[in-house]
Amino acid sequence: MNKERKLIVAGNWKMNKTVVEALQLVRDLKPGVANINDADIVVCPPFTALSEVAKAIRGSRIQLGAQNMSEHEAGAYTGEIAAEMLRELEVRYVILGHSERRQYQKESDELILQKAQTAHAAGLQPIVCVGEALAEREAGHTEKVLEGQVRGSLMGLSKEQMRQTVVAYEPVWAIGTGKTATTSQAQESHAFIRGLLAKLFDATIARLVRIQYGGSVKPSNARELMSQPDVDGALVGGASLEAQSFTEIIQNSI
Ligand code: PEP
Repeated sequence: MNKERKLIVAGNWKMNKTVVEALQLVRDLKPGVANINDADIVVCPPFTALSEVAKAIRGSRIQLGAQNMSEHEAGAYTGEIAAEMLRELEVRYVILGHSERRQYQKESDELILQKAQTAHAAGLQPIVCVGEALAEREAGHTEKVLEGQVRGSLMGLSKEQMRQTVVAYEPVWAIGTGKTATTSQAQESHAFIRGLLAKLFDATIARLVRIQYGGSVKPSNARELMSQPDVDGALVGGASLEAQSFTEIIQNSI
């Protein structure tokens, strides 16, 4: 697939995989992605496996991401993980504002923006998640919700920071449910988000920023989703937990 923006396919392992299991998964992944140069391939293990996975993927096509981090740089924040600590482990990307964190940890757009700023200050590239719930879509509020989240969690980044940010459009009703947005629903929301980035930042940034789709991406639907002009990759949950399905998604995406 010939696109101006380099595809980025990331696996969000969520709270799965012990260190031993994580190492097995990356061992199984490496051969299938060894010759893929047209996409950034990212795995996001739980914090506990980052260090070992970092060592295991050195010299491979696989890059490392984390699933969350603190908005603070350092200090008395028991149980939190700082951006600098992630950088030390060769982490390059960090998922921020995943809908599960918005829902269970009550993360607000304001907090997500702070985290994104902290991530950039440490040299990490945030993957900032946005997406509407089913009731919001059914009420015809998808664009209003997306606009609120994009403004709230991204406006405040400098243009340079925005350029280095990935946006993940993840309709909440499609996450872990087996329901995928249709290609036209995905394309429509991606184009809307890109239009907003042009309005809030500028046309060049809107053209360069990568927008991933997330929500029940599988080997069988990856090709069609990725063929949409404004879909620049995938954020994959369940199907990233097995080497074969994640590899097939990557291979079908390029
Ligand atoms: C996710 O958690 O970001 C996700 C998209 O999950 P799944 O692929 O399982 O729907």
